[in-house]
Amino acid sequence: MSQQEDALSLLEKKLGPCVRREEEDLSTASFDGLKVGKIPDAVVRPVSGAQVGEILEVASEFSIPVTTRGAGSSLTGGATPIGGGWVLDLSGLDSIEIDEGNMLANCGPGAVVEDLQKKASAVGLFYPPDPSSKKFCTIGGNVACNAGGLRCVKYGVTRDYVLALAGFLSTGEFVRWGRATRKFATGYNLRDLWVGSEGTLGVVTEATLRLIPQPEGRRTFLAAFSSEASALSAPAELMRMGVRPSIIEFLDQWTVDCVQQYTGKDVFPGLASHAVLLIELDGTESSINAQSEKLLAWLGQNSVRSCVAESGEEEETLWEVRRQASPAMKKLAETKLNEDVVVPLDRQIELVDFVSLLREDTSLKIGVFGHCGDGNLHVNFMYDESDAEETGRAVSALEKLMRKVIDLGGAISGEHGIGLAKTPFAHLQFSEAEWGAMRAIKGTLDPKGILNPGKIFDVFKPWEQKKVSFPLPWEYADEDA
Ligand SMILES: Cc1cc2nc3c(=O)[nH]c(=O)nc-3n(C[C@H](O)[C@H](O)[C@H](O)COP(=O)(O)OP(=O)(O)OC[C@H]3O[C@@H](n4cnc5c(N)ncnc54)[C@H](O)[C@@H]3O)c2cc1C
Repeated sequence: MSQQEDALSLLEKKLGPCVRREEEDLSTASFDGLKVGKIPDAVVRPVSGAQVGEILEVASEFSIPVTTRGAGSSLTGGATPIGGGWVLDLSGLDSIEIDEGNMLANCGPGAVVEDLQKKASAVGLFYPPDPSSKKFCTIGGNVACNAGGLRCVKYGVTRDYVLALAGFLSTGEFVRWGRATRKFATGYNLRDLWVGSEGTLGVVTEATLRLIPQPEGRRTFLAAFSSEASALSAPAELMRMGVRPSIIEFLDQWTVDCVQQYTGKDVFPGLASHAVLLIELDGTESSINAQSEKLLAWLGQNSVRSCVAESGEEEETLWEVRRQASPAMKKLAETKLNEDVVVPLDRQIELVDFVSLLREDTSLKIGVFGHCGDGNLHVNFMYDESDAEETGRAVSALEKLMRKVIDLGGAISGEHGIGLAKTPFAHLQFSEAEWGAMRAIKGTLDPKGILNPGKIFDVFKPWEQKKVSFPLPWEYADEDA
């Protein structure tokens, strides 16, 4: 028997039916939102945190690669078992306990983000991180990617809510980083090192998360601008005026036109061919009123037209347009690459101007929308992978974009992580010294290199791979970032 077979039979002895080798299980776990596939040797679905330790102990003994998986909604190939070996599927560890007195939640890694939000909301509490994938993505995946979303502009990202993490090192040893306390200054902060480490430094089996009081109300505004630049001046100017929106979402003119064509509707009546901002204020009635006054005054001077949603239904109609941006673009070509670059607030205008030139120079379909309150814009490239010439143009445009982002003082990913998809550009971001420090950490925490191998460090070119044709494992694949 080979090493792999020895390891698997030992694991089957220990964990019995938690170890799955049926074709369907292997196929489903072989890819994520990037749709690059690699069939693993087994999928292991533990039913307790302790079993995760047993799995890693065996994997470490036999040097078997282990790719931890939540919902598999990563858009970067982070959950793809590219190194083979085992997929550690933690979706079954989905417990959620709300501690009202301490305003925190203890979650299993497989807890779905929206389920946590609903449980917290039932007792007047709020868990703000809200990736568009929240209906199916998990707390473990969000911690591992330091996920963001729409409301980060006011409330911050996943990292800002993580008080403590418990889980296992690659050797199967149990560790707990941080405590269920609001402050922690005791030793190295390995909790924050695990956050955003994409399953390459350890496996999270429990997350203690901070909750805050549920805002009393919300109000949504729509504004159209004569240019992308005037729309993108909003985040910094509003901040200076003391207006703190909970959401500021930007859609460039190209994206608005694309949604318009896709839906066949006048999506923002009378506002086609304009760059648009969707803004939400939340809080108490009096604070919303006070902020609303300042916001409307600013919009009056700077936008072409603006309006306030008068009812929940009207709000929903506006947000639905934002949600249609990604499906509309997906209809344009075989492949859609969704980049999640981030730049300083005052460099967004240069970034969007650069994308407009790139669109003109390359004749590619490129749309920009996203979280401009954080400088985190989704630049979407649509092209046909079966057309080698067009793929070449898209890849070269992508590299130009990444170089520009770095020149502007930004980063190649603001919320999705590196995974496989960003590895061709990660070398642009880091110096040799920075890579050296990161490799040293990886080598210390995962000396055999079994945790999610192939991610972050090795260059992988997704456009050279044939994409899997299975349906996506999660049910709600139409929205995007
Ligand atoms: C339609 C759509 C919309 C999206 N919108 C957003 C958005 O608005 N903002 C955003 O940030 N992202 C967004 N994403 C990307 C994705 O949902 C996030 O990256 C999310 O955090 C992944 O969670 P998951 O449970 O699916 O994790 P997976 O995809 O299963 O895994 C992601 C990474 O986390 C690691 N991992 C998972 N669980 C653990 C664990 N317990 N311990 C250690 N490592 C672990 C995996 O190894 C992998 O590297 C979107 C994706 C889709 C498909």
